[in-house]
Amino acid sequence: MRIFVDIDDCLNDMKTTFIQRAVDLGYIKEYQEIKEWDLTKFFKSNPPLSDEKVTDMINSIFLSDNFWLNLPLKEDAVKVVKWLNNKYEIYLATSPWYPDPDCMKWKVQWVEKYFSFLKTNQLIFISKKWLLKGDIIIDDKPITIKKFDGVTIIFDQPYNQKINANYRVNNWKQVLKIIQKDFSKKDGYFRCLECGRYLLYESYINIFRCYCGNLNLKKL
Ligand SMILES: [Mg+2]
Repeated sequence: MRIFVDIDDCLNDMKTTFIQRAVDLGYIKEYQEIKEWDLTKFFKSNPPLSDEKVTDMINSIFLSDNFWLNLPLKEDAVKVVKWLNNKYEIYLATSPWYPDPDCMKWKVQWVEKYFSFLKTNQLIFISKKWLLKGDIIIDDKPITIKKFDGVTIIFDQPYNQKINANYRVNNWKQVLKIIQKDFSKKDGYFRCLECGRYLLYESYINIFRCYCGNLNLKKL
């Protein structure tokens, strides 16, 4: 089973760190709930900051020394990713902040700092993550969850409340529970080799077949 794990706002707390930095630097007066995944769009649609001020704020925070390197980890993130990595094929999939090529460098170092048990080729830089081929994605970005072809686990955020995912979580303990409950046992998830649907086995069904009628199912 192949699992993709997003970094920003799944393994770390990027947006809350950003907002705190914006308050400390005097761009905004107080902590705000982010109701849009894209910070630029969010601030540009929420006066009183002018568009120029928004650009200035984003650049000065994202370009400031070690912003990406010092992002705080979410609780249990390392423990759960380590557990997943021992059992499944895991990739960290993250979109860099493209205006700064050094962002990728900081992100590599951040991963090495906390996830040294992962190999270099388990980190993928990509923004259109729905192009990835795998079984599960853990992410917070609405469009990624909407378009990914597989099982979706969404990290709950104010900006993704209206998005339907297979699972919605607030923390890594919940991710672990889901994987242990629905994926680790014999009768967990299957994929239909005919139509590609993901199906959760229900033990009371004697003949397990897909809604499309196909019996050729692959256990994840
Ligand atoms: Mg994210």
